[in-house]
Amino acid sequence: MASVYIETFGCQMNEADSQYVADRATAAGYSIATRPEDANVLVVNTCTVRDNAERRAYGRINHFNVLKEADPGVRLVVTGCLAEQDRDRMQKLAPHVDAVFGTSELVQLGDTLTSWREDFEDTEFTQERALLLPLGGAADAVTDAFSHLRAFVTVQRGCSYYCTFCIVPHVRGRFDHRPAREIVEEVREKLASGAREVMLVGQTVNAWRDPISGADFGDLCREVAALDGLERLTFISPHPKDFTEKMIADFAALPALNPRVHLPLQSGSDAMLRRMNRKYTRAQFDEKVALFHRHLPDWAITTDIIVGFPGETDDDFEATMGLVRSGVFANAFTFMYSIRRGTPAARWEQVDEIVKKARYARLYDAQNTVTRAYHDRKIGSTVRALVVGPSKKDATKLTTKTSDNVTAIAPMPPDYDEALYAREPWLDVRIETAHVWGCTGTIVRRAAHAGEPGAAVAAPLIDLIAT
Ligand code: SF4
Repeated sequence: MASVYIETFGCQMNEADSQYVADRATAAGYSIATRPEDANVLVVNTCTVRDNAERRAYGRINHFNVLKEADPGVRLVVTGCLAEQDRDRMQKLAPHVDAVFGTSELVQLGDTLTSWREDFEDTEFTQERALLLPLGGAADAVTDAFSHLRAFVTVQRGCSYYCTFCIVPHVRGRFDHRPAREIVEEVREKLASGAREVMLVGQTVNAWRDPISGADFGDLCREVAALDGLERLTFISPHPKDFTEKMIADFAALPALNPRVHLPLQSGSDAMLRRMNRKYTRAQFDEKVALFHRHLPDWAITTDIIVGFPGETDDDFEATMGLVRSGVFANAFTFMYSIRRGTPAARWEQVDEIVKKARYARLYDAQNTVTRAYHDRKIGSTVRALVVGPSKKDATKLTTKTSDNVTAIAPMPPDYDEALYAREPWLDVRIETAHVWGCTGTIVRRAAHAGEPGAAVAAPLIDLIAT
């Protein structure tokens, strides 16, 4: 059977796009491969938000040339922001790429997969290819048997905010909001196909407005949460400026919403926020945090922080550190500023690399201490989590995600079976140890639906021997 392998870099917007490509491929008769060496078509969905993501994507694209050399019938497709940005350069940098589709050309990519389908009829993978060592490398997301449990539904494309460090408006264009009725219809379809958790995705998701009625993002969440069969709802990635008290009060009335919000701070200093064109002051950011604490005191708040943005002084950095040390963020994605071609900040005087690295190390340590303490508080509790799949590092373990987005890893129960766990994917994990990256524990119950108590799961063999 013809198969397609999809590897995704970057944000949930890209994961949503990959899901669309997977749906189109499946509808055209492909199976979804979980290893590149098993596929006829390799799709690399790329990201350019950080220099590192761009380099990793090119590394992977070049890596896949090994497969094309072993089997010239393999097709390599690049999509996502890098495809948009480097459309012309790509032929020079990676001439083995067969096709490039920008972020607004996913429908054409789906059509191309459909038109290629017959070329792979009766494909037998060559001996040469079978002998290839697994290509390895860790992608951010590979579409697999559990992917459909988490449905990404795009509510908006592009962004009109033009933060001075960000390439998104340049490669994805300005805001384009989908009408609510289209979004609701797509959520219904995903639920009918087995989705247990729906993630509403937009580059600035809470800026969404229905182009017809003017309804806001809180209204949209209410409408989606009322759909039959919806078990959990979540959203990414909001902008602090667009949260209103009305919207947060809407969230508080929706028990299906996952108890977490991502509030990308970027910097704790007013001077930096101005230079970044973030459209809020530090005081306004603190007000949004206070609103969440007032209406949703149990929600985890996570954030993004950039260190070493052009012009950042020691005092600016200390303002960020102060907020991090206060323990307000359950987790943070921290980055050293990296130049993005075509953005205003790329032309400004840069912070010395040594200074940048030293600040980053301090910030990283400070947030790790806070994150570890957040995870420590889970020890001894039993948490409901949705299965992600076998752990990438240890195939005898299962990776799960809690509703506040903490990774919980546990030994695979003796009755583990991919199809069974895809049908009954809600796992109660008794948390035993905590780390910066998440928690470990034991799976004690398994349920088909989020609201069900679930049935007991047999203890892993190792536990039985120990008792
Ligand atoms: S809000 Fe800023 S960082 Fe976010 S996508 Fe828009 S321009 Fe980029």
